[in-house]
Amino acid sequence: MQVTRALFDEVMVPNYNPQQMVPVRGLGSRVWDQDNNEYIDFAGGIAVNALGHCHPAMVETLKQQADQLWHLSNTFTNEPALRLAKKLTDATFADKVFFCNSGAEANEAAFKLARKFAYDNFGADKNEIIAFYQGFHGRTLFTVSVGGQAKYREGFEPAPGAITHVAYNDLEALKAAISDKTCAVVMEPMQGEGGVIPADAEFARGVRELCDQHNALLVYDEVQTGVGRTGRLYQYMELGVTPDILSTAKALGGGFPIGAMLTTNKVAPSLGFGTHGSTYGGNPLACAVAETVLDIINQPEVLEGVATKRAVFEEELEKINNQYNIFTEVRGRGLLIGAELVPAWHGKAAQFLAAAREHGLLMLVAGPNVIRFAPSLIIPDEDIRAGMAKLGDAIAQVLTAEQSA
Ligand SMILES: *Cc1c(COP(=O)(O)O)cnc(C)c1O
Repeated sequence: MQVTRALFDEVMVPNYNPQQMVPVRGLGSRVWDQDNNEYIDFAGGIAVNALGHCHPAMVETLKQQADQLWHLSNTFTNEPALRLAKKLTDATFADKVFFCNSGAEANEAAFKLARKFAYDNFGADKNEIIAFYQGFHGRTLFTVSVGGQAKYREGFEPAPGAITHVAYNDLEALKAAISDKTCAVVMEPMQGEGGVIPADAEFARGVRELCDQHNALLVYDEVQTGVGRTGRLYQYMELGVTPDILSTAKALGGGFPIGAMLTTNKVAPSLGFGTHGSTYGGNPLACAVAETVLDIINQPEVLEGVATKRAVFEEELEKINNQYNIFTEVRGRGLLIGAELVPAWHGKAAQFLAAAREHGLLMLVAGPNVIRFAPSLIIPDEDIRAGMAKLGDAIAQVLTAEQSA
């Protein structure tokens, strides 16, 4: 059957508006479409393809596991899940792991656990969740409700209750909102979708102290920042703040769907037998691939390479900015990079995305004002430079079109 982009509009629910080409193949940091046009990938499947496309070790693991065992359900455990859980707990603050299939599901488990822990230990009245404006935690009803962008929630109400939002990086605002009825404070250690905004270290420490004062759990959503993205295995390590619960997904499977919620021996018992579950969560295929991803990324050479590659991105972005004066700021950590457009181009980040694609470059936006890069953590330097040349051409095209308009 011959399929084209046009078929999308015919047979798919219109909740996405994909680019006007259909990718068919990827290798490393390059992707090819149906017409065999080549693209350099600075998007990384939205911070998912941390080892690029079709990494040989991941392909080998997937093929081997495909011949071994695909699915049994959680009435059995399996070897890949046990090995992955052991490696995740060895590498982090956590003692216990719950597996699921996505970031939203990891957060759903995290929020349910936070409520249940407070219920078990302090009673039903301690149920309030505080989160931050512009935060993003997924698209289930609970996670859009904890998320700090009203537009993702509007029209889907009634939403789950007892959730408040305060400004990010504003400790006084949190201090005013938190109370002994707060069961959890939920934050991304760096907001991704919200515009690539890192938490100030002082703010992060203050949040931890306020949680401790009010017996509230601290939940870190590291779905986007986790698994090496920022140059540390998890961003909490950089901030020097240890959460009680951490959600991870995206890069964990490197392109194979998996999510996990990590927590401590103190908190985990509240998800006792029968309290929560997932049919596919912890399935052998996903866990085998994630184990390989973790083995590769959690090595000093790979994690240190993130900083080196960021430096190349920064150098190239500075060159572009010297020429076109288009960015007010380049921010983020590691290979989660946000370039904020000058005010004249606010609201128009998507125009640059489309122009970049025409020039053979895949990238992302983070809101209407910020261009975002979340490439493979092992992208070759020559691919970074080649992609940046395309970005320069794309920016020139957008600016010229604007002048002649
Ligand atoms: C992408 C993302 C999610 C949602 O993950 P899904 O796998 O799409 O459900 C949650 N939190 C953050 C911070 C994210 O970036």
